[in-house]
Amino acid sequence: MLEAIAEEIRGCRRCALAEGRANAVPGEGPADAAIMFIGEGPGVQEDRQGRPFVGPAGKLLDELLEDAGLSRSQVFITNIIKCRPPGNRDPRPEEIRACRDYLDGQIAAINPQAICLLGRPATQTLLDPKAAIGKVHGQPFEREGILYVPIYHPAAALHNPGLSSALIEDFTKLKALLEHHLG
Ligand code: URA
Repeated sequence: MLEAIAEEIRGCRRCALAEGRANAVPGEGPADAAIMFIGEGPGVQEDRQGRPFVGPAGKLLDELLEDAGLSRSQVFITNIIKCRPPGNRDPRPEEIRACRDYLDGQIAAINPQAICLLGRPATQTLLDPKAAIGKVHGQPFEREGILYVPIYHPAAALHNPGLSSALIEDFTKLKALLEHHLG
């Protein structure tokens, strides 16, 4: 199921981003992962390699995961859109809509206990189109038995070092929430 979705994504031509990509980036991780991380969209390194979070934001994510006692190999990591927008601009609503079935299919196939939303676009797409990440970060929501935890995007802390401590706090909260929720 998950691999069939990934194959479909690799050949997808549902929106204009297909024209400019080197590789679509379906996401990766175990099919039975208890936790998913959902980011915004591939950057230049991800587009080159066809893998999520392998650039500078990915390095920071790996460190934060490790500090939270999670290894990358036990979580499923993906994005709301699977192809890189030119110049890393924000994903457009029509691109998010075109990709939405893939994300919903991945969530249904994995059936995770918790989903960590990295940054504003993922939070607005999955929780509330009006959510302000500066307000909701670190606050868990439960929907249909899944614990959603919006947190700052690691790339935000790279661009704005003032957010680093908030991001580290978000991960500390995430760790506590997961321990409580997953037992
Ligand atoms: N930023 C994202 O949101 N996703 C990636 O895969 C890489 C950087």
